[in-house]
Amino acid sequence: MKKTSKTGINILIFIILILVLALGILAIVQYGRFRDQMEEKARQEAQAEAEATVTPTQTPTPEPTPDPSDPEVIREQLIGSIQTAIEENNVNTMANILRYTASDGSITAYPAEDVAEVLLHLKRDSADYWNFFTALRSESTSVNADGESQVLVLSTQDLRKMTNTAPKEGESIQPETPVGEGKMVAIDAGHQAQGDSNQEPIGPGASQTKARVASGTSGCVSGVPEYELNLTVALKLRDELERRGYSTYMIREDNEVNVSNAERAQLASQSGADILVRIHANGSENSSVAGALTMAPSTSNPYVDGQIVQECQRLSQLVIDSFCAVTGAQNQGVYQTDEMSGLNWCAIPATLVEMGYMTNPEEDARMQTEEYQALMVQGIADGIDSYFTS
Ligand SMILES: [Zn+2]
Repeated sequence: MKKTSKTGINILIFIILILVLALGILAIVQYGRFRDQMEEKARQEAQAEAEATVTPTQTPTPEPTPDPSDPEVIREQLIGSIQTAIEENNVNTMANILRYTASDGSITAYPAEDVAEVLLHLKRDSADYWNFFTALRSESTSVNADGESQVLVLSTQDLRKMTNTAPKEGESIQPETPVGEGKMVAIDAGHQAQGDSNQEPIGPGASQTKARVASGTSGCVSGVPEYELNLTVALKLRDELERRGYSTYMIREDNEVNVSNAERAQLASQSGADILVRIHANGSENSSVAGALTMAPSTSNPYVDGQIVQECQRLSQLVIDSFCAVTGAQNQGVYQTDEMSGLNWCAIPATLVEMGYMTNPEEDARMQTEEYQALMVQGIADGIDSYFTS
């Protein structure tokens, strides 16, 4: 009994404590709400006061957001694309953006050769690079070319006038003495219609042998065999080099031949040519692989004289660098190999150009176009010019 009443009192005290606590919490919450209301009221009053002082002409304006249809905004975007194109050696992108108004009023693209020349120049000359972009901002307008793509129309009809690559007043377009004058280039279009699996030594005195001529690769989408593409480009390279004053020696001008790689190298060496340029296209089991490279013997090559090896490597480096600068192809550099009969048997400086991968759908399709072939030829010819002038 006694114990029960004591328990009852304890419960009563506990309940009272709970009630006091609840009231306390309620009071705190109410005070908080009251304070928030007061603050909100004060804020509204302050805002009302501030708004009252705003005169009708000072209506608050929203943050300016760039208008995607604003010609100025489009022009800045196009200029940004040109900067990226120069960084990435992408002549195509640059050529697609820059236009001029021809005398008949039509919006016209600049010749790819001029765009490539200006791109290369801008990469080398930083002062001209800034001048070019300053001029671009003051002398261009963005125009919707054909209802889908935006282009920059420049005020000059000669893109090279935007840089100092243009011939000076009174200067003839062709230099007095063409770079190629007195120089001879042997050109070998790789492979032939039928490969020849009969063996030959890979170099003078070598016990190791290889097929006289491998059959080469072919275009995964174009279906064009490598020997055909190689000859197409080789013939265009011949014409371009002759235009630049070189004399040339063609190892083959027909697909129906049978000349081994060793024989090609020996023919080139005996022709009186100063250098040999071998034209090939690459293949890979991985269709996503793309890009260009050149091949040269290594410094430990047992078949090629050390001095010639140095020159092969110098030629290969200059050719691959200008090839990629002009075409925008991914630069896979100079591949050193001592397994190529067509280099090992050669007594003059030689390089083998792998122009691109015929197993890559985009690169295969691109290499079949007249435009890209012209760029490849220009890139190789520029590299040859550099070899003889540096
Ligand atoms: Zn090949």
